[in-house]
Amino acid sequence: MTTHLVWLRNDLRVNDNSALWAACRSRHARVIALFIATPAQWRQHNMAPRQAEYIWRSLRQLQQSLAEKGIALHYHQCDDFAAAVSYLQDFCRQQRVDALFYNYQYEFNERERDAAAERLLSQQGVTVQGFDDSVLLPPGSVRTGNNEAYKVFTPFSKAYRKRLRAGLPECLSAPPARTEAPLTALPPLSPFDYPRESFDEQLFPVGEAAALQRLRAFCRQPVLAYPAQRDFPASEGTSRLSVCLATGTLSPRQCLHRLLREQPQALEEGAASIWLNELIWRDFYRHLLVAFPRLCKNQPFAAWTKKVAWQQRPDRFAAWREGKTGYPIVDAAMRQLNATGWMHNRLRMIAASFLIKDLQIDWRSGERYFMSVLIDGDLAANNGGWQWSASTGTDAVPWFRIFNPTTQGERFDAGGEFIRRWLPELAAVPDKAIHHPHDWAKKNHQRLDYPLPIVEHKAAREQTLAIFEAARKASSAISPE
Ligand SMILES: Cc1cc2nc3c(=O)[nH]c(=O)nc-3n(C[C@H](O)[C@H](O)[C@H](O)COP(=O)(O)OP(=O)(O)OC[C@H]3O[C@@H](n4cnc5c(N)ncnc54)[C@H](O)[C@@H]3O)c2cc1C
Repeated sequence: MTTHLVWLRNDLRVNDNSALWAACRSRHARVIALFIATPAQWRQHNMAPRQAEYIWRSLRQLQQSLAEKGIALHYHQCDDFAAAVSYLQDFCRQQRVDALFYNYQYEFNERERDAAAERLLSQQGVTVQGFDDSVLLPPGSVRTGNNEAYKVFTPFSKAYRKRLRAGLPECLSAPPARTEAPLTALPPLSPFDYPRESFDEQLFPVGEAAALQRLRAFCRQPVLAYPAQRDFPASEGTSRLSVCLATGTLSPRQCLHRLLREQPQALEEGAASIWLNELIWRDFYRHLLVAFPRLCKNQPFAAWTKKVAWQQRPDRFAAWREGKTGYPIVDAAMRQLNATGWMHNRLRMIAASFLIKDLQIDWRSGERYFMSVLIDGDLAANNGGWQWSASTGTDAVPWFRIFNPTTQGERFDAGGEFIRRWLPELAAVPDKAIHHPHDWAKKNHQRLDYPLPIVEHKAAREQTLAIFEAARKASSAISPE
């Protein structure tokens, strides 16, 4: 009997899992699965403890779902990717594995790891098959008329939709059970050798059943209110499925198919089509990682922005991190992040813009910090979001357009409902003064236990324009790509 091994990574589900499906295609093969935890590598990648905890809890559920299909999940912990590859080789020898099946990851280190695994296992006589699974369409498959990678989102999105209209990517069901009775007496999965931090399972559905339930409920009704609600952090206007997509308890194809089942016009127009656009943004950033691997190596997309003279201000960075900048919307955002591991998208843009364009701190510090706290931390989306905000990315906000954090707050949290949730020290401030609490306190002779603004926005804006302008001049010899 041949043995098929599924190497699970960020695809923690039995439904619509390309590698698992392919491994189970033959009725006669013995199928086993393996998850290798690499805590030292995760530390290097700044993985948030809450994300590690989410993975661990989801893995326990996956072990159960696989056992119901007669598939044993093996589990091992080692340090880093090199150790994982070496363990994989030994494991394949011990278990007499004939074929390995896995779903691609697109980050640079992950691709290097997988290339090494493919090479070494092939030398050992193991057949290796990889699959594009965490995207709607494979990176490199949607290109411009000049056969180049798209660098601008709108034409990419148009071309993407056209391809999807021509034929949807298949959404696979779970493979049928391989044994009459489920496996029992499952070995306990020891917790990862990683800092542990709990999270709210009501906010972040653990495992694929809960993820699918959230997806179904969202696509039935809330998605129709998405365009009107999605920018207002006080309302529950978005799906909160990002952790599921980042860790693979849910696939983007499942999102697409469920969306179209509930809202058949979503590929064309209307409210549901706006949500689909977000899934396409997600793929856009993945396609960019593959086309421009420097994005995984701390490099800006636009070379001229290497010349920006970022400020070294650890005190200001600490104030931003802790939600003590004196700008209520920024502080509420950072406290939501620190307390829950998640931040609303509008706030991610505001908080990132504030760090970069009000404090003139290098976007990479913010990118790292977000990654270390976000439960949905995802290199492609996080890097894309930070480079967009920093004006260093492809199709980024122009460098001279700078968010005003106060007017952003007034626009998207007018009555301060969200701010009040996270800044109890502003409880006494009336709604209309919530974005200028110190002006109100001064006028009314009140004392507030809340910091004064650490910078003055108007002056900071002028300084930022000057340092970007200087960078442009200094790098005029370098082509801006
Ligand atoms: C500075 C910054 C950092 C970010 N870091 C991350 C990150 O580490 N991980 C992450 O998943 N998203 C990141 N995003 C994108 C976005 O903020 C989150 O995906 C979104 O807030 C998740 O909430 P949701 O699941 O309710 O999204 P919804 O609005 O319901 O969107 C559905 C899904 O589409 C994807 N998506 C939505 N917006 C974007 C976007 N702008 N770019 C890429 N994918 C998107 C996500 O997978 C999301 O779950 C970042 C954005 C910015 C501006």
